[in-house]
Amino acid sequence: MSKIFVTKTFLPPEKEYQEYVSGIFQRCQLTNQGPLLKELEARLSEYLGVKHFHYITNGTVALQLALRVLGIDGGEVITTPFSYVATTSAILWEHCVPVFVDIDRETLALDPARIEEAITPRTRAIMPVHVFGYPCDVDAIQEIADKHHLKVIYDAAHAFGVRYRGQSLLNYGDISTLSFHSTKLFHTIEGGACIVKDKAVSDELEVMKRFGHDSDHHICMGINAKQSEFHAAMGLALLPHLPEIYAGRRRVSEQYDALLKGCVKRPKSVPDLEYNYAYYPVIFRSEEELLKVLRTLNRMGIYPRRYFHPSLNKLPYLERQIACPVSEDIASRIACLPLYPELPAEIVEKISSTIRQVLQEEAGGAEC
Ligand SMILES: *Cc1c(COP(=O)(O)O)cnc(C)c1O
Repeated sequence: MSKIFVTKTFLPPEKEYQEYVSGIFQRCQLTNQGPLLKELEARLSEYLGVKHFHYITNGTVALQLALRVLGIDGGEVITTPFSYVATTSAILWEHCVPVFVDIDRETLALDPARIEEAITPRTRAIMPVHVFGYPCDVDAIQEIADKHHLKVIYDAAHAFGVRYRGQSLLNYGDISTLSFHSTKLFHTIEGGACIVKDKAVSDELEVMKRFGHDSDHHICMGINAKQSEFHAAMGLALLPHLPEIYAGRRRVSEQYDALLKGCVKRPKSVPDLEYNYAYYPVIFRSEEELLKVLRTLNRMGIYPRRYFHPSLNKLPYLERQIACPVSEDIASRIACLPLYPELPAEIVEKISSTIRQVLQEEAGGAEC
């Protein structure tokens, strides 16, 4: 049996990508806001139901640009310790200070009830994560941000296509960022996006992402965050396949739901949500139990991932130590199970029965 990893990149039929590439060869424009990039931006903003959409190099630079364009500039940024490392490293890279606020034990998102006590005169922004594609408490976060005049940047790398209360989840906050890395649900090999609420900020970002100038007119300090036509081509070739991507992921997730019911804990979802089935996280009772499940599955050639581990407040290169006991606890015993459209039903069954078996042994024979 070939190895089963936590995800497998979805590729469109080669011919469909080739057709876009032929066009690039004919036009000989490889980058610099080419026609495929513009087409992808237009189609994605329509598809997602968002307004000011910027397709750029990757999801990490998207976070960095967001901090820059909102002028956070060395300030303290309240953020979650339960995410991929890029959420924290983007803050550090921009010479801002990450201030970790612990997560809610049920939703795994930044706990709004703990935000205010972390606010100081130097706090400039809140950077929560819609972790695994589940919405943060967007109302509570916005209320706190308004009260204290803070910007809100959502790391929405997991939230592609998620709709909440009848609209795109990406419409909340001052800026939301996406990642189109090839491990993500929708990808363009490498890639990312900024979705900006305010038109003036969006116009500034437009210049900033292209070296800060418009022809010979230099407007602000910029960077190169442009994306190429080849990357845009991958996005355009994948777009028509999104319905089958969602359907396949949903099938696998629902199979896990049925087979693991009552056996493992899952993050709490919210009402009025159209989920994207981006991940299938399961929370075990202890780290020992998790490690035993992983060892057993690894022996069978199956590799779930410890998303997210370690809790980011424990990164070795941080200057300030901030304890986040809930995040540290969850991070020690959570993993994401393999999830992608082509994952065979027999494998899902095998993974689930193995988990049940290990948990039963750990519980001294009691069925879970
Ligand atoms: C993938 C990811 C990123 C980084 O995106 P890249 O496109 O790989 O730079 C940032 N934040 C989260 C939560 C992610 O999962």
